[in-house]
Amino acid sequence: MITPKPFINARRDTPCPICGKTSWCGFNDEIAVCMRVSSGREVNNGGWLHKLDNVFTSYVPPKTRSNVKRKPDEFIDMVYREFIRILPLSEDHLQSLLERGMAEEEIRRRQYRTTPKDRHADSLGEKFNLYGVPGFFKENGRWKCVAAQGILIPVKNERRQIVGFQIRLDRKADNKKYVWFSSAKMGGSTPGPRIHVAMPQKIKIPDLVWITEGPLKADIAAERLGFPVLGVPGVNCWKSAIEVVKNLNPERAVVAYDSDYHKKQVSIHARALVDELKKHYKTGVALWPEEKGLDDALVAGVSIKVKVV
Ligand SMILES: [Zn+2]
Repeated sequence: MITPKPFINARRDTPCPICGKTSWCGFNDEIAVCMRVSSGREVNNGGWLHKLDNVFTSYVPPKTRSNVKRKPDEFIDMVYREFIRILPLSEDHLQSLLERGMAEEEIRRRQYRTTPKDRHADSLGEKFNLYGVPGFFKENGRWKCVAAQGILIPVKNERRQIVGFQIRLDRKADNKKYVWFSSAKMGGSTPGPRIHVAMPQKIKIPDLVWITEGPLKADIAAERLGFPVLGVPGVNCWKSAIEVVKNLNPERAVVAYDSDYHKKQVSIHARALVDELKKHYKTGVALWPEEKGLDDALVAGVSIKVKVV
């Protein structure tokens, strides 16, 4: 039997992935019931059923049953830095990052790690109060961390604090390549929609910011472009991205999504992002041959054009 995943309602921070509006519709990471855009498949509440592709589309922050509030960024940064201090990066994971075209020095500097096999977090729990730190939870009186195995990718805010982790899974789960380091299902706080701010080692162009998909791509792109690149967790999180762009205060902004713009759930949000950016900055859209991701295109030296919009 298939248990349907819980639905979340379209709201300001989680707009509908189909129409982009912030009320009335509902969705999870697989399907959406949109009340405004027809799919030809009507459901009994009067809305239409849309299947969401499992590419870069919408990110739905895991809901938490508890009232545990997320700790402030300063505290989370402290805990996460202590957490990764002794974690290694396995040879396999180092190899897979090298194969993406990253340099060893770059990989070290980005602080990628291999998720721990041992889920116990007793010593961390003695040092810090882990309530409200995403990824940790208490079980039978002992602190533990979530168990998904893969590469732990730090998500940093504009103050370079580690405020979350994405995990690149060793084995796809539910057709997903990436998950968030989240204990929301075990009563922890939600990891929230966090925007990764990837800074290159040397900023060559100070007045420009790009926006792309996810933290790892952003890291690879920032290093090769020479300016900050934001990695958004899903196209629907563009409002959070706007806040971060404002804090970085550039003159120009470019949207560089790989995903097929013809897919409705991408294009609505991408367009909304572009429209909002245009109000404040010189804005462009990055274009390159479609078969490659932005990171692969940059590593391969493919020329990327920016169309001013
Ligand atoms: Zn809708």
